[in-house]
Amino acid sequence: MPAMSTLRRFRYVGPAEIRERERDSPAGAVIDHVDDLRAWLATRAPGEEPTLTYVVTPDGRLRVAERRSEHVACAGGQDVLAAGELTLAEAGPLRVVELSNQSTGYCPALDCWRALAEALLRVGLPHPDGFTFACEFRRCPACAERNLVKDGWLECALCGAELPAAWNFDDSPGA
Ligand SMILES: [Zn+2]
Repeated sequence: MPAMSTLRRFRYVGPAEIRERERDSPAGAVIDHVDDLRAWLATRAPGEEPTLTYVVTPDGRLRVAERRSEHVACAGGQDVLAAGELTLAEAGPLRVVELSNQSTGYCPALDCWRALAEALLRVGLPHPDGFTFACEFRRCPACAERNLVKDGWLECALCGAELPAAWNFDDSPGA
């Protein structure tokens, strides 16, 4: 097991009512080996999409759930080392073809890549060398809205205030 204590933890920063609503939802499936993923995929209903919700929990383990699942449910309410979406190849050997840190529940910084890469390496799942869709999240210092920065445009979508240049969910109160 890698030394996870050196990795940054992200706490849930989404709406409290979603966390409350998801309190009794089943956590995501723990994937310790590529065979665990195969077994989980075999239980899915036909026609489910190839994109999944994932988190890496503080113990460094990958968990997955259907894309419609909330990240906080997938994580069983825990903090995460990484969160986002992954897309599996629809044909050929089992592998990840797209990866993102897209989670408005945790708004993880881009450096969560390290925890994800370590988890995927441990599972033995081939994957791209970086995020294929990288999200820059900022919390608005004026209205506290969570923003996904698009095209480097550092302006709050809700109130128009200027957003900081760096990821800033560490220095603001949680939801
Ligand atoms: Zn704002």
